[in-house]
Amino acid sequence: MTFASHLSHAFVGSDARSRRQVLYWAITVGLYAVCVLLLVFESRVGVADPAVVSLLVTILVAGTLMFYVPVRMSQRLGLSPSLLAMVQAVFAITSIVASYAAIGPARGATLAILVVVLVFCSFALTPRQSYAMSAFAIVLLGVTMIVMNRLQPERYAAGLEFVHFTLAASMLGAVTFLTGRLSELRNKLKRQRTELAQALARIQEMATRDDLTLLTNRRHMNELLAYEKERHDRKGHALSIALLDIDWFKRVNDAHGHAAGDDVLRAFARQALIAVRNTDVLARWGGEEFLLMLPDTEPQAAAMVLERMRARMAAHEFNAGDVPLRISFSAGLTVARSGEPIADTIARSDAALYAAKAAGRNRVVST
Ligand code: GH3
Ligand code: MG
Ligand code: MG
Repeated sequence: MTFASHLSHAFVGSDARSRRQVLYWAITVGLYAVCVLLLVFESRVGVADPAVVSLLVTILVAGTLMFYVPVRMSQRLGLSPSLLAMVQAVFAITSIVASYAAIGPARGATLAILVVVLVFCSFALTPRQSYAMSAFAIVLLGVTMIVMNRLQPERYAAGLEFVHFTLAASMLGAVTFLTGRLSELRNKLKRQRTELAQALARIQEMATRDDLTLLTNRRHMNELLAYEKERHDRKGHALSIALLDIDWFKRVNDAHGHAAGDDVLRAFARQALIAVRNTDVLARWGGEEFLLMLPDTEPQAAAMVLERMRARMAAHEFNAGDVPLRISFSAGLTVARSGEPIADTIARSDAALYAAKAAGRNRVVST
């Protein structure tokens, strides 16, 4: 990192929120700088009281620089952005109205700056808070005009003040209304974006999970198999694959109904998941058939996982409605060979599964 980038990091902060707030602050500094120059100019040409101007300039410069600290440290100090923005807005509005009272003939221009302050508010405040700021500005301006008219009736003539007030009040009202609408639209967009992200997450979930058992579905399992097979071919780690099929499942349906069969399938998936390791992936491959992928696993270790699963099923009491039920499964286990298509590996475990069924079921056959 260069010295300059270190310096800019220290000045604006490294996270997006802090950078944004320092940027807004820097824009207000620019605006205040213009105001200070104009105030000084007004006092030089003799239309503003130099003592009042130097007081105002001091307050403006000191206030602006002082705000840098809470703006830069707002997160560390736990300051809410809207509170910070309100305090800055009150300071800005008060300074602008004070300038209005100080500079005499050219004061009409300050009204435009009030509008800029309210546009700023709309970034950090809720529409309701912006309305409050707008009302504060209008009341403060009105009171200042009355006071100045009493103090210096020839410089702050009632007619001109009336024109200024009407102009300022209508501009501020309109701007606050429009920025309020904008922030409503922005919130709506934000809401829609969140909903969209949630919908996308739901769709992703639906695309990768089996509805009934909540296991990985076949489509997603094919992707995972392709990925692991490629890793296996490249790195040579053992990749074990097993196909599992529930024994005599048709009888469960026939005896207890399809819904009870579904319950048994769900319970089977839950029990099976408990037996496998975190790195193994169990998918519903078809009706009552499951595929277990065991990455980085030698066949002996894979056989142990399957035996553990078989023991768990044997010990578990399933339920079909209220009727207790015993369930077993048969499995064909194989290990991927380097360079062979994954379909060949699966076909081999299918043949082993067939052999397990033929040999009497409730067993694991390795090939
Ligand atoms: P085997 O030991 O030879 O595997 O006998 P089996 O009865 O399990 O074999 P078969 O393939 O003949 O029957 C599988 C049954 O699984 C048939 C089908 O109705 C049932 N089945 C498949 N998918 C579902 C499902 O989603 N829900 C329910 N309830 N049953 C299903
Ligand atoms: Mg079966
Ligand atoms: Mg089957």
